[in-house]
Amino acid sequence: MDTTKLLKLASLMFPELTDADTVESLEAMFPERGLSENAKVTRIAPSPTGSMHLGNLYGALADERIAHSAADDGVFYLRIENTDDKREVPGAVEKIIKYLGAFGISFDEGATNDGDMGNYGPYRQRDRAKIYHIVARKLILEGRAYPCFCSEADLENAHKMQEENKENFGYYGKYAVHRDMDIDEAIAKIEAGESYVLRFKSMGDPSKKVDFKDQIKGKLSFPQNDQDFVLLKSDGIPTYHFAHVVDDHFMRTTDVVRGEEWLSTLPWHVELWIACGFKMPRFCHTAQVMKLDEETGTKRKMSKRKDPECTLGFYFEKGYPAKSVIEYLMTLLNSNYEQWRSANKEASYKEFQFKASNMGNSGAMFDLAKFNDVSKNIIAAMPAEEVYDGVVEWAKENDAEFAKILTDNEAYAKAYLAIGRGGKKPRKDFACWSEVKSFVSYYYDDMFTLEDAFPENVPAEERKAMLAEYITMYDPADDNNGWFEKVKTLSEKYGYTSDMKAYKADPDAFKGSITDVSNIIRVAITGRLNSPDLCTVMNVMGVDRVKARLSAQA
Ligand code: GLU
Repeated sequence: MDTTKLLKLASLMFPELTDADTVESLEAMFPERGLSENAKVTRIAPSPTGSMHLGNLYGALADERIAHSAADDGVFYLRIENTDDKREVPGAVEKIIKYLGAFGISFDEGATNDGDMGNYGPYRQRDRAKIYHIVARKLILEGRAYPCFCSEADLENAHKMQEENKENFGYYGKYAVHRDMDIDEAIAKIEAGESYVLRFKSMGDPSKKVDFKDQIKGKLSFPQNDQDFVLLKSDGIPTYHFAHVVDDHFMRTTDVVRGEEWLSTLPWHVELWIACGFKMPRFCHTAQVMKLDEETGTKRKMSKRKDPECTLGFYFEKGYPAKSVIEYLMTLLNSNYEQWRSANKEASYKEFQFKASNMGNSGAMFDLAKFNDVSKNIIAAMPAEEVYDGVVEWAKENDAEFAKILTDNEAYAKAYLAIGRGGKKPRKDFACWSEVKSFVSYYYDDMFTLEDAFPENVPAEERKAMLAEYITMYDPADDNNGWFEKVKTLSEKYGYTSDMKAYKADPDAFKGSITDVSNIIRVAITGRLNSPDLCTVMNVMGVDRVKARLSAQA
């Protein structure tokens, strides 16, 4: 190796670097974090494309829990992968922070709405060119990276040839045409202004194996890499592969948690980590979020195009509480979470000991019906105030008219939202805030309609007579027993039995039962056959509204 020539090549490629810009200087600038033994440093590294989907939240939650579950001084940080400026959308970073924040996920360090926070930045890859170039220069000087002048057309030709010869695709072996180019020739080309990329010089032999331990997938074994993949693109910006190694090393990530789609290029990364002389972090390759395709009945990847629940916007628009989404994702992320939850009903999910090794090896199945059940349970356990706040906050963004109705009479809304809460069997009416309005519309005269029919076995005249009589009997001061006794008296008077046992044994022996009578009152008051405890509903509505509803049907 001709060091003088390589130095000349490197300084042509990176004229901005001085002799002081060494990997050792980076090591000193970004030292080991000195955390406690069990502490973990994790990150998410999204591209600022403006789209946020469930997979992003799922991954972020795993990272956040791994960092914060293992030790008090764990670090979870945000790095922005903006190496592809064509895909960058203005405001995308703010959106990532805002959306994850809405689910209670915040960062200890990294990119923020106003600049960077932390000592291991910059945290936006476009601001890190110099750091990549310093490492690239070291690789060039050590003979582990070289400039490649192939045009798109050259690479396409090689690809065609590989296809015809049924060979592996890529830049390797005889196809790595600039790998052994004379350094003087490379210098001349760069001086002449030719465009080039920087490639890694692989020393791997695919006939040999690499053994690897993934925290989720367990022991893996794969052929060594032999691809001379690109480290820096022609504009000097790194590829994912190079940025991943440089950033995760100098940001001192201890656990790289990323999607399993990166397993195929893991052999590249392993070789590059070693070539750079960096200690490899632990890796956790997470399974993708899957779902059962309704048409084919087969398991498939969740798709932004086919599944509305794939985008995070869906949860905001429908008004699912953040708690519900997190709770469900926790069940998908850690196999022993549900068992822990049933023993720790009141605890925050943050008390659960999250372990990468308890993450599923194959795709996590997202089931919307199951998720709705989880959300119903979460809402059922909330006090009325929390439900009120959740609905109002959602309505302010999505249904201004309903928000006004709710806030105009806060005490009324809170009173009816309190019905059926608490106790052993709370009502589980709604899974999200957008469903609340249709459940509670009957509390408001403007929205009240008769949605269900009155029981058909009671003739209309008799029904009206019963309602008229009931108006005279109804007393808001009655407690539940008093209320029931009056309905019973009314039923018996009109020949509708209150002996449910006898009725069930021989329904034909009776005109009907007390259920018909209470349903008549229920439909008159709420417009529907299904409602929370009617006595309480009437109490909350107030005597004037109750009497008006009854007389309207009498
Ligand atoms: N931007 C990459 C992705 O979204 C990050 C992968 C990683 O976490 O290393 O897939």
